[in-house]
Amino acid sequence: MTIALKELTGIVTTDVAAVTRGRFIATDTLPKISETGVGWLQANLSLTPFNSIAHPNPWGSSGDLRLIPDAEARFRTTSTGAATPFDMVPGYLVELDGSPWSCCTRTLLRDAVLALEAETGLTLVTAVEQEFQVFGANLPDAQVLSFEGLRRADSFAPQIMAALEEAGVEPEVIISEFGRDQFEVTHAPAPALVAADRAVAIREIIREICRVRGWRASFAPKTDPASVGSGVHIHFSLRDRGGDPVTYDANGPAGLSPRAASFCAGILRHLPAMTALTASSVSSYYRLRPHNWSSSYTWLGDKDREATLRICPTVSIGGRDPSKSFNIEYRAADGTANPYLAIAAIIRAGLEGLRAELPAPPIVSGDPSAMSEAELSANGLVRLPETLADALDVLKADPVVAGWFEPIFLETFVGMKTYEIAALDGLDEAGICQRYREVY
Ligand code: GLU
Ligand code: MG
Repeated sequence: MTIALKELTGIVTTDVAAVTRGRFIATDTLPKISETGVGWLQANLSLTPFNSIAHPNPWGSSGDLRLIPDAEARFRTTSTGAATPFDMVPGYLVELDGSPWSCCTRTLLRDAVLALEAETGLTLVTAVEQEFQVFGANLPDAQVLSFEGLRRADSFAPQIMAALEEAGVEPEVIISEFGRDQFEVTHAPAPALVAADRAVAIREIIREICRVRGWRASFAPKTDPASVGSGVHIHFSLRDRGGDPVTYDANGPAGLSPRAASFCAGILRHLPAMTALTASSVSSYYRLRPHNWSSSYTWLGDKDREATLRICPTVSIGGRDPSKSFNIEYRAADGTANPYLAIAAIIRAGLEGLRAELPAPPIVSGDPSAMSEAELSANGLVRLPETLADALDVLKADPVVAGWFEPIFLETFVGMKTYEIAALDGLDEAGICQRYREVY
């Protein structure tokens, strides 16, 4: 006897805990719900990563929303090894009359993209580089970054690349990274909203491939206090209305055009307040420490992996035009942050810098942790918040960053995160890393 399996499609939203949640329908009924979506509820935004709901929260037990699939954003692959295809469609959360819900993170990113374009004519091209560690695979030891490091796990990497390609995320490079059983995947640059969708799809596809094998992929920023961190590095560059790259200027500082410089200056100005939006867990702050190649100061660096904003190298082999590939990398993000929110924050902060026509920030080389107070302040270097609790306080205290959101969104975000911090009470760093390792 064969058991029939109905193919299902998940309509999803990614919440402030950076957990992708949703409802499944039979794939052949997708056209029927394309306009009205599936049901959802406001209180879900107060869910913590630990399967509890924050108390108090602004929502309570009443209220309903619709989650409308975005037909242009569908990620389907038959290559995860699961019994049925992986099929995921991110959506927008709307009120019952179709008006936008001010707390939908995908809508927040869409609106940031539209605001940047309307005010400046610019769009952000984005690529998300994600690191993760694999557990339970019992892989033989191998040198870090080695050929063997990837080959020992065969067919893991080829399967990931096949599944990601089939799903349309345009994977580029997969490597065995510096950490134990740590890997990294990149995708081709894309418009900001597409890149955020891809970041989510890549995580879920890799998780599923691992799950089917009886392994677990963890995108947590630190899986134990002594381990190498896993970052989510957000690469960005600016294009004008005609689609031409406008980030590079051969005569600008380290190649930055005046507009790119203002954009970066806006990010650095608001960085301490936006850190909670890009590094959103307690364990995130074990990674954001000096000498981790992660980032720890409001620092723009030329090809420096300790800087929060790293101006990336360009290649001139064969006379290539550097303006096409020139980009900047935001390194203070990790897998416990919602990618829509993180990229929205980068755009909003950059837009503040463009509006104020901020001058190019200093391009700093050297080790900020060894600099005197005077040197730090001459270079505009401020230490990023050192705990999630501090990061939330700095977020609430920056009226510009707080002003990017409806008060109820911030209340939900801060309330949930405060509850999350309390849920870890009594655990030491190792215990906290383990909690996050198990859920991200
Ligand atoms: N694993 C480092 C991090 O936590 C990054 C290493 C690299 O530069 O790729 O961000
Ligand atoms: Mg890396």
